Amino acid sequence: MKLLEGRLITVSNRLPVEIKHRGGQSRLSRSAGGLATALDSIWRFCHGIWVGWAGAVDSGSGEHLLEKASRGRTFSFKAVPLSRDEVSKFYSGFANEIIWPLFHDMPSRCDFDPEYWEVYQRINRRFAQAAGEAASGKDLVWVHDYHLMLMGRYLRETRSAARAGFFLHIPFPAPDIFEKLPWRKPVLRALLQYDVVGFQTDRDHCNFLSCIERILPEARSSRDESHTKVVLEGRCTRVGNFPISIAFEEFANHAASHDVEAAAQQFRHELGNKYLVLGVDRMDYTKGIPERLKAFRILLRRFPELRHRVTLLQVVVPSREEIPNYKELRREVELLVSQINGEFTESGWVPIHYMHRSLTRKQLVTYYRAADIVLVTSLKDGMNLVAKEFCAAQVDESGVVVISEFTGAAAELQHGAVVVNPNDLAGVAEAIHRACVMPLEEKRSRMRLLRDIVRTYNVQSWAEAFLNAVLMAEPAVVGAAGSSGEDTNFPLIASSSPQNLKSA
Ligand code: UDP
Repeated sequence: MKLLEGRLITVSNRLPVEIKHRGGQSRLSRSAGGLATALDSIWRFCHGIWVGWAGAVDSGSGEHLLEKASRGRTFSFKAVPLSRDEVSKFYSGFANEIIWPLFHDMPSRCDFDPEYWEVYQRINRRFAQAAGEAASGKDLVWVHDYHLMLMGRYLRETRSAARAGFFLHIPFPAPDIFEKLPWRKPVLRALLQYDVVGFQTDRDHCNFLSCIERILPEARSSRDESHTKVVLEGRCTRVGNFPISIAFEEFANHAASHDVEAAAQQFRHELGNKYLVLGVDRMDYTKGIPERLKAFRILLRRFPELRHRVTLLQVVVPSREEIPNYKELRREVELLVSQINGEFTESGWVPIHYMHRSLTRKQLVTYYRAADIVLVTSLKDGMNLVAKEFCAAQVDESGVVVISEFTGAAAELQHGAVVVNPNDLAGVAEAIHRACVMPLEEKRSRMRLLRDIVRTYNVQSWAEAFLNAVLMAEPAVVGAAGSSGEDTNFPLIASSSPQNLKSA
């Protein structure tokens, strides 16, 4: 593969490494995150800088640690400092108590505190300055996610000539929801300062355009096969769908390894002859965990023949514990687990095995391999990588995906998966029953299709498609001279969205 002509400047709220201070000492650890894995394949053939917060607050130290961590990599780290108060108002506040619930269609959970907005603007400007200082005209700035929606505007203010793209990892809401945001106009205008704005699905893409139509009627848009061009005040932004994915071969190879196969067999042996239904989620109200547990209770009530024969393994990874909503959710989930286990447990069978912790990669892949069904009941989810990882790990092709229609992944996986409305608890119970009794041949043909999709539209094709779109973007100001995709030596790939493969 050829190299990007300039450098890639990746910007995300968190760096993929974390500085921790303890007892006067600073330590650096890898901070687990899907984005780092997603970009691994890209850093193999381009070089650059990763700009983000390194985790420690109120401290300027740690530069030497970041420098050390950059050795032997194709990119270096540039930390953006944040104080404790800024973390609380920018990250926990604006990002996770306003944008996260609003963009997941849950406006009643929002706390529209105007101070959050003040701090969000200030921090976005700080990130833009850090990226702008680092980027030259040939570089490409790739900004990730809802924490940094305003950065496009501030980047332009730094007079950086670098091309800039923004990818939203979470959903984008419909206008009736989005317009509740008191700062809807400046957010949309700032997004239209990027050369490319990417979404996970066609639904998000269309919602964004509908919001522009309603809130910024002066903007003009035209759509071709894969992208929409939006022009506002002489600046053109390309909008497109770029569904994120996983490193398929890595998961598949790991799942096929002797170690994982032996561990999965051992786990199945201990479980006995039962259907294993697996749920893996962060503790988040968008994931529909209480709804899933209630649906499982209905399954056990309506299909008594499945008692003793089905086990739900629910892994919940602790998340955002400083936010009050998340603490309440944990109490609700744990109460439901104990009620259901209290109602149904009998000698030799506990219906729900509940884990509230992070798993190692090997444990996770072992459960993916051992499970008969993965159950994803998100009320709203940008993508849901767990569903795709499960497919990759199903090397014997016998697992079934039961997935909420409100996930980005459902748009791609709908023809092989069993698709449910997570609010229809009886419907979810029926779907689990159907997945349990599904003939092996049907399971296989569905899983083969799903694995083909995830293998083809993997994380590398996602990143390449996005970067190519930025490289092919029109010059910053319509009509001005600038480069097009043809003058770059970045590999151009023909990558249509898997969502276009309706008849795959
Ligand atoms: N995951 C993890 N540790 C665990 C369980 C899950 O790192 O103990 C990972 C999992 O492999 C997946 C991610 O967490 O890549 C969850 O991604 P998803 O898109 O499903 O949901 P998100 O948490 O990003 O909303």
